[in-house]
Amino acid sequence: MRSHLLNDTTAEHYRRSATEGIERVAAKLATTSRPFTGVTVDALSSRIDEIDLDRPLHDTTAVLDELEDVYLRDAVYFHHPRYLAHLNCPVVIPAVLGEAILSAVNSSLDTWDQSAGGTLIERKLIDWTTARIGLGENADGVFTSGGTQSNLQALLLAREEAKPGREGREAADSFSKLRVFASEVSHFSVKKSAKLLGLSQDAVVSIPVGDDKRMQTVALAQELERCVRDGLVPMAVVATAGTTDFGSIDPLPEIAELCEQYGVWMHVDAAYGCGLLASVKHRDRIDGIERADSVTVDYHKSFFQPVSSSAVLVRDASTLRHATYHAEYLNPRRMVHERIPNQVDKSLQTTRRFDALKLWMTLRVMGADGIGQLFDEVCDLAVEGWKLLAADPRFDVVVEPTLSTLVFRYIPAAVTDPSEIDRANLYARKALFASGDAVVAGTKVGARHFLKFTLLNPETTVDDMAAVLDLIAGHAEQYLGESLDRAS
Ligand SMILES: *Cc1c(COP(=O)(O)O)cnc(C)c1O
Repeated sequence: MRSHLLNDTTAEHYRRSATEGIERVAAKLATTSRPFTGVTVDALSSRIDEIDLDRPLHDTTAVLDELEDVYLRDAVYFHHPRYLAHLNCPVVIPAVLGEAILSAVNSSLDTWDQSAGGTLIERKLIDWTTARIGLGENADGVFTSGGTQSNLQALLLAREEAKPGREGREAADSFSKLRVFASEVSHFSVKKSAKLLGLSQDAVVSIPVGDDKRMQTVALAQELERCVRDGLVPMAVVATAGTTDFGSIDPLPEIAELCEQYGVWMHVDAAYGCGLLASVKHRDRIDGIERADSVTVDYHKSFFQPVSSSAVLVRDASTLRHATYHAEYLNPRRMVHERIPNQVDKSLQTTRRFDALKLWMTLRVMGADGIGQLFDEVCDLAVEGWKLLAADPRFDVVVEPTLSTLVFRYIPAAVTDPSEIDRANLYARKALFASGDAVVAGTKVGARHFLKFTLLNPETTVDDMAAVLDLIAGHAEQYLGESLDRAS
């Protein structure tokens, strides 16, 4: 069994195994003609159920053959140009190489004595990111597992900075007075974080958006005013720079003004829009982000990085102390005085992957402009898609794209019942997934069901979008035809 341990005597075994695995994936990529096979839950479950984990195969090739059967053949492939569903990007090769290296070396970024250079690489990337944002000399941050964790940590810091207990109020009931303001289309992790942070059930005040799906700052001003008038404490405003559903960017400069006026922590959730930080053409779309107290970025969304790769950045490094705890066995307080860089002092996690290496490899091989160009391409593609949809009487499209998302629905001329149209769109999405020809997402706008393209693949073409729209229309028409038959 020792031959499976990665060490000085097994280098050849490692090389062979890794190469064999890479060959399988490369072969898969070369031959995948659809983003999905349309396999059903039942079909896949029974194959996985059959496998007895207590009877190992003892042979890598056999295990890879088996993996073909239970995973590789039927995986959902994000690199395929007709995968248009969620915020999953095709990944860049330098980052995948980084992934292979970081898991083999297996550094853990919590303490210097578990990572050494890895710690400094992560710190340099944090500095690079805060400089791109423009957070100033005192900025800092840390890599996280994703936007959800980044938002949670940012709101933890905001809560600690806003603690009403400071003004001598009862500590026990103090959290109940805190309020967080976020648009009605902000990410659900804001509400989840509020719950985890012990805030009251109605702590997150939902601010309406306009037709452009951006937070209405007039409404935000009113809610902040009301909050203060009611004797409550505004803890944070979460501005979304790239909403998950629409890619819309809240008006950051105006929100920054209000945050300053009310002395409120400004958090910018740029999990999606962070790609603009590298953009060659569209950087100005997130102007105002530099005024944030904290920022969430998901490199695994718009920097073409493999999951996980995310960070939370803060304007004032000292606020990260709210996540600092010392353990004698790990990061004793004296190490701070010895100036030993232990990233665990800034993180909610302890053992932590060296995800930063992927971004490092990417920037060193491709450069920031390389990434930015890819993101610009998908933003430009979305504009083409919008034109396509706007000119097509079969579809209703919601909002002109700021990033790379299109929300639309099929609207047959002959059908007026909106619920029937809802059902046709829901059916079309499911049927398309079952066919495996393309994968699209869905969401609700008001009470109605819509479909969504999230464009993150520069290989996707206008023709791909047109073809997928035809497929959607075809499925929807089929549903409506059958539904007419049923009614008669
Ligand atoms: C995706 C997303 C998140 C959550 O990020 P994860 O990496 O999935 O945890 C948060 N906010 C926004 C706006 C997002 O799009």
